[in-house]
Amino acid sequence: MVSVIFIAPPAAGKGTISKYLVGNFGYTQLSTGDLLRKAAKEDTTFGRNIKQLIDEGFFVSDEIVLKLIERELEKIKGKAFILDGIPRNILQAKHLEKIFEKINVDKYIVINLDILEDTLKKRATGRRLCNDCHLSYNIYFDGFKPKEENVCDTCHNPLLRREDDAEEVFISRYQTYLKNTLPLIHFYQEKGLLYVVDANCTNAEILENVEKIIKGEEND
Ligand SMILES: [Zn+2]
Repeated sequence: MVSVIFIAPPAAGKGTISKYLVGNFGYTQLSTGDLLRKAAKEDTTFGRNIKQLIDEGFFVSDEIVLKLIERELEKIKGKAFILDGIPRNILQAKHLEKIFEKINVDKYIVINLDILEDTLKKRATGRRLCNDCHLSYNIYFDGFKPKEENVCDTCHNPLLRREDDAEEVFISRYQTYLKNTLPLIHFYQEKGLLYVVDANCTNAEILENVEKIIKGEEND
């Protein structure tokens, strides 16, 4: 199986797709957020440093994140992986290339989930959650709207909106994404590693297209 790096803005459906690939194709998902939280529990100098940075709300440097990724890739050597949360900028991408070379990752592709800002905004700001059954709704999309406004279909509890899904949070995250990530798309395009998948459709359709790309790479 070919390893995959996803480049996608927040709320583009990357989580769902990764979960599907892990479940159906045996991928190992390496998410920088998960790895940092795991490392922070280690009783080592490295672990304690990370814990301190997280606890004090400091930015974890590229150097630490890359070191963590390198260590995990060593552990799963030979297995296909999905990278989530990295690279976020060109510098990280260049370092990743060196790491891949060092541990002989011979084949990987980059999938960009291409999504309109308006679709994305509706996905993020329209999300409503039920605190009880953890069902997720969206007030903007048919099929995802609760039957009764702001009430869970199954438990009849009022639905909640996460602070993260507020419009200001969305706008600031999206701006950061554009600034840092768009140059990455060009970087991987020049290397011939980039696939662009239209993500303005249903999750099922996105998955189908991602699957096609992965299977196509296998048959190459
Ligand atoms: Zn519920």
